[in-house]
Amino acid sequence: MITIKSHSELDLMRKAGKIVSGTFEALKRSIKPGITTKELDRIAYDFIKSSGATPSFLNYGGFPASICTSINDCVIHGIPDKTKLCDGDIISIDIGACYKGYHADSAKTFAVGDISADAKRLIDVTRQSFYEGIKLAKRKNRIGDVSAAIGEYIESNGFGVVRDYTGHGIGEKLHEDPSVFNFGAPGHGPRLMAGMTIAIEPMVTAGDYEVYTEDDDWTVRTFDGSLAAHYEHTILITDGECEILTL
Ligand code: MG
Ligand code: MG
Repeated sequence: MITIKSHSELDLMRKAGKIVSGTFEALKRSIKPGITTKELDRIAYDFIKSSGATPSFLNYGGFPASICTSINDCVIHGIPDKTKLCDGDIISIDIGACYKGYHADSAKTFAVGDISADAKRLIDVTRQSFYEGIKLAKRKNRIGDVSAAIGEYIESNGFGVVRDYTGHGIGEKLHEDPSVFNFGAPGHGPRLMAGMTIAIEPMVTAGDYEVYTEDDDWTVRTFDGSLAAHYEHTILITDGECEILTL
């Protein structure tokens, strides 16, 4: 069931969204060679808790940390540990915060030090694919219109679109209906209505789109070892342009 949020629910989601974007701000200056992903996780945990929220991912389905830290060929769900970031790495950081019972969810991919031109282009195309998608995220359009725009943009740039994971509705639960695919033909799926809140999150690979999950049951990597990037915001469908809640 797709829920339509009330004004008071949306105020809580906006607040959760601000906490998520604030967490990215708090982390940004620390993303450099030598820091461990565990240290990044600690910074995020402290910021989210001091903002009066709880980390949405901590203990979600047993996930053992507050953020996901996915380096290079890791696509999503990387678990923070004592791995140190190295010059030339790319790292996707996924953050969720729950404020007074309402979630917001966002992910971005960052350069660590100096990265290759190819890695930079992967990050840029991934981010832009989100913006190409939300041009279609309007009342009366269908979810599939957004999915198609994202997938077309990524594939026309020569990159792979991960099939096995999708965006999602969000609100009182971190993952609600509908699923938001990052590929497919336009004209399919539920119609968008004002008051829907969805997390749109293209996951993009420099090579083939096939992925596998490691034995820890979380870490998702590209099968061919190619780099991957991730970009996500929680948005609100309105009567006009969508509102991005996690900016
Ligand atoms: Mg996320
Ligand atoms: Mg998400």
